[in-house]
Amino acid sequence: MKFNTKTIHGGQKIDPAFNSVMQPIYQTSTYAQESPGVNKGFEYSRTHNPTRTALQNSFASLENAKYGVAFSSGLAAIDAIIKLLKPGDEVISTNDLYGGTYRLFTKIFEKYGIKFHFTSLHNLTDIDSLLNEKTKVIWAETPTNPMINVFDIEKLAKISKANKLIFVVDNTFASPYLQNPLELGADIVMHSATKYLAGHSDVVMGALMLNNDEIAEKLYFIQNASGAVPGPQDCFLTLRGIKTLHVRMQRHCENASKVAHFLNNHSKVEKVYWPGLESHLNHEVAKKQMSDFGGMLSFRIKDYNKNQTIKFLEKLHLFTLAESLGGVESLCGHPASMTHASIPKEEREKSGVTDSLIRLSVGIEDADDLIDDLKNAFL
Ligand SMILES: *Cc1c(COP(=O)(O)O)cnc(C)c1O
Repeated sequence: MKFNTKTIHGGQKIDPAFNSVMQPIYQTSTYAQESPGVNKGFEYSRTHNPTRTALQNSFASLENAKYGVAFSSGLAAIDAIIKLLKPGDEVISTNDLYGGTYRLFTKIFEKYGIKFHFTSLHNLTDIDSLLNEKTKVIWAETPTNPMINVFDIEKLAKISKANKLIFVVDNTFASPYLQNPLELGADIVMHSATKYLAGHSDVVMGALMLNNDEIAEKLYFIQNASGAVPGPQDCFLTLRGIKTLHVRMQRHCENASKVAHFLNNHSKVEKVYWPGLESHLNHEVAKKQMSDFGGMLSFRIKDYNKNQTIKFLEKLHLFTLAESLGGVESLCGHPASMTHASIPKEEREKSGVTDSLIRLSVGIEDADDLIDDLKNAFL
């Protein structure tokens, strides 16, 4: 089955109760048993729910994985992976990490004795110098948020394999339409399905996809034992969103390309970060591992300070100033004071998140209207 068919049919069956074409929302916490332990495979909805099972099968299908695991948020999915570790274990991650992931690692898990290293994953010798017998996980995000850096998944997978580590890729920004990390050697793919997968800014959802039987068993155990499961209504919304993932992503990429080129040619713009531009540091890696360049971009306006940058954002009308990304509507953000406010100023400026940086989630409106909106904000 090709990707554009999988979004609609991948892992899906006609529901046996009434042959409904759409997956029903099984809004129930529990299931009648014929006698103790005799049931139809469902006992309690933290453990299993048919709507969630359908979603998990769709997740697996999108990343060509054997297993899909759904969580009540992207962060709950990340939380489950770190719960595979024990005190003393170490994780190597990027210094250009989603703010919430950084906060979870440093504010929650460090106090349980897990050590996190943040480094540039471009520099393989930096990774080498951090590797030791306690290292258990390499955690990559590509493209990253908000600097839209692209890391070479195959190269990181090789290091991870050689050292018997678990290699996790947060694939939220690319979506499975553009990039399938498991096929490039990753062990676990993580998604904030809140973003492109659900795609309509109406649900918070997390996903893990993987092939390893042993790790999958542990993750399903953690899903049930820790209990961060999504409700059936949210599973339904995500399933419904996924059906148009390929159509939306194609338009996101086309529009982002137009917006990126407009900004790149604008005299007031200092720099545009979008992997489709030849000037992008990792344009070649992006070409190798992604089928297109995505709907996310960041840029900096020449000599703007924080106030001027915020004024620019306030002048935009079609780009709504909001957290999040990946919905049909265009959003803009100021990472330094929004998504990355929890990262110390010194730390975030090292990775490029300065006060003049603007992030755009380019939606699927008409590209001409989006460009006009930006033009007006420059005046
Ligand atoms: C939003 C996001 C997350 C967190 O996901 P939630 O669904 O908000 O919990 C993790 N990683 C990336 C790259 C994100 O954009």
